Amino acid sequence: MPKQNLGLNTICTHIGEIKDEQFKGSVSPIYLSSSYEFLDVDVKRYPRYFNTPNQEYLSKKIAALEYTDAAMIFGSGMAAISHMFFAFLQKGDHLVVQNTLYGGTVNFIKEEFPKYGIEYTFTNGYKVEDFEAAIQDNTRLIHIESPSNPLLTVTDIKAIAKLGKTKGIFTSIDNTFASPVNQNPIDLGINMVMHSATKYFGGHSDICAGAVASSKENIERIWNVSKNLGGSLSDMTVWMLERSMKTLGLRVKAQTKNAMKLAKWLNKHPKVLRVYYPGLKSHPEHKLAKSQMKGFGAMLSFELIHDLDSEQFQNELKLIKSSMSLAGIESTVLSPHLTSHALLSPAEREAVGISDQLIRFSVGIEAFKDLKHDIAQAIAVLD
Ligand SMILES: *Cc1c(COP(=O)(O)O)cnc(C)c1O
Repeated sequence: MPKQNLGLNTICTHIGEIKDEQFKGSVSPIYLSSSYEFLDVDVKRYPRYFNTPNQEYLSKKIAALEYTDAAMIFGSGMAAISHMFFAFLQKGDHLVVQNTLYGGTVNFIKEEFPKYGIEYTFTNGYKVEDFEAAIQDNTRLIHIESPSNPLLTVTDIKAIAKLGKTKGIFTSIDNTFASPVNQNPIDLGINMVMHSATKYFGGHSDICAGAVASSKENIERIWNVSKNLGGSLSDMTVWMLERSMKTLGLRVKAQTKNAMKLAKWLNKHPKVLRVYYPGLKSHPEHKLAKSQMKGFGAMLSFELIHDLDSEQFQNELKLIKSSMSLAGIESTVLSPHLTSHALLSPAEREAVGISDQLIRFSVGIEAFKDLKHDIAQAIAVLD
């Protein structure tokens, strides 16, 4: 969609509404039909064609938020990634992919690509030179994640987009951590943006969904694969997601503000060894993050000093829950070495910078003073 003059919260609230012509209700009706008229219609609708009224209209909201012409919603973030990859890569093609990446994406590439004869290279780092070095003659797609999970590295999105354009290679980004509230990669030249809508789009830890936003042509290309793979989302969930997204801007801005304050506070705490947050001046890519993000996001990681047990710390938290997922309005913490990176050996983990002390923190909307108090009291118990 060409950039509109509408503000963020107006897009969140109103774009993609279905008008209730019959009863004039204020919210979108939910259409649960899995069967639609096929004679004399413009669109042949069917849930697995991703074009029921609720699917079609929610896609408009996501496209508007990412400044694209089109978008598609899927049953999960992994469905969005896998359908996008399968649409742009076939037998004999090669993918260049960032080394620091969501664990599920890494598994998908390593476990599925060899079965279909698709080649891939994980970069040695996240600088543009690392991507350039990995390109081969048969490279068709470059996929990045920024900020990345769990160390919040920041990739130069504009430089990657330019590299792709120069070499005639498509580029895609996992924009889950930043959300469109904090980062719009299409403006920076990236071809396709995907989201785990399970995270900030849903925002209440009760929806599993995914999305891709891009040009009409690229979305059509993905649709041609998706109608065969069949990863569509139920209209009940689509409707819930539309409702959730009305507060996306409000939630993520409040969470981002809290994260900035917490990062600064943790950074000064004598029992905290290190904080990973792109908003801190000490972050190696702080300037780059400032140039390409509208806000620094609500995810951060930190390490406690070595004589404090990070697992026990999480058990002592009263308000902040430990949780596998992220991005809800409630604050949650997780140990990457016990979850996403548990299959790596301690030496392998150390090589990618993930210590046993590392705690990933998904910052919620609670009052800053209460979050600070909870962390302080947990540290005090261990000390
Ligand atoms: C959760 C997540 C995914 C996968 O999404 P699902 O909805 O769990 O399939 C992909 N990328 C990132 C960055 C995520 O956090």
